[in-house]
Amino acid sequence: MRLDIDSSISSISVKEINMKKLFQYVYKNGPVSKQELSINLDLSFPTVNQYLKKFEEIGAIIQYGTFQSTGGRKAAAYICNSSHAYSIGVYITRLFYIITIINLIGEQIFSRKYIKTFEATEDYGEEMNNDINEVIVSSKIDICKIKGIGFSIPGILKNDDENIVVQFAPSLPYKNWSFDIISKYCNFPFIVDNDANLGGFCEAWEDNFKNSFAYIHIAGGVGGTIIIDGKTFLGNNNIIAEFGHMIVEPHGNTCNCGRNGCLETYISTRVLSDNLNISLETFFEELNNNKEYRKIFEDYLDFLCIGISNIRLILGLDVVVAGEITEYLIPYEDLIQKKLSQIDILDSDKYFRFSKIKRENASSRGAALRVIESYLDQI
Ligand SMILES: [Zn+2]
Repeated sequence: MRLDIDSSISSISVKEINMKKLFQYVYKNGPVSKQELSINLDLSFPTVNQYLKKFEEIGAIIQYGTFQSTGGRKAAAYICNSSHAYSIGVYITRLFYIITIINLIGEQIFSRKYIKTFEATEDYGEEMNNDINEVIVSSKIDICKIKGIGFSIPGILKNDDENIVVQFAPSLPYKNWSFDIISKYCNFPFIVDNDANLGGFCEAWEDNFKNSFAYIHIAGGVGGTIIIDGKTFLGNNNIIAEFGHMIVEPHGNTCNCGRNGCLETYISTRVLSDNLNISLETFFEELNNNKEYRKIFEDYLDFLCIGISNIRLILGLDVVVAGEITEYLIPYEDLIQKKLSQIDILDSDKYFRFSKIKRENASSRGAALRVIESYLDQI
């Protein structure tokens, strides 16, 4: 069963927005009193009561003692009940998948990387679902509290009522494969989305859905998403923010998308690993002592900065660098900043930063958070 997710702004009613705000406020600021909620969210006391009652009925918010009295009755304190619900995120890539479990308030309960080469086969789907079931059993979570699974795919999805087809996933060696190979073994409600969209959603969640930014996700492929005031900008079709497929070199490297000179061919993690027949870890371990690697990395950073600068010039947004590469690039932040300031003669602001989720599981966390969001939407 697929979970329905409609992230268009118009579909969300004022009541839903206010309920979400109340939940987010309790999540970020709990323990809180009714009075604090009423004042800070600009909601009447009866409305706060009504929303709190709904959340208490389903056990999502609980009373947690009282505040010190300043005269009169002590005010009740409210917090989110983190163990009320759980969700699972699965980030699928060419060489591995990551399974992550989070609780209602987005805290990570479990995360593990499984080294398995992707195949568009039912055996692969069955094996993945066996691993998911094993994780659930070993984490000892009440299975009834799992609200669903979010799957993250490094590709473009055609998502109609009948079927989900992965039309184009350049980093996976298959085209137009049906997601049925995985979903038919899945015993939970599920969602499927692009890895960069989900990573961006995770970043927006960490920001409490307040900010706008462009998000470039760098792994075996390079994708992106655009977040405006905490919401994913959807554009007019399903091909959007494909930052990796901006052509940056006419007649350049051949890209998996069939074109030449795409940014992805210069800044994907493959450039620093597969293309050299080594792992990403090995590349960065040996970088300082290897002249050839230093030259490759210098070129890599040049193209990365061209990409970041182009995104900024077009969108005028902060640019967040995320994905598998993040933890390796952090020591070079000053160097990247220096290169950017040499290119950016029109722009003197610091607009580039790394994702708040430094590890490679941002996308599986994002997938799990989308399930939680969908669950909260139903409240
Ligand atoms: Zn391309």
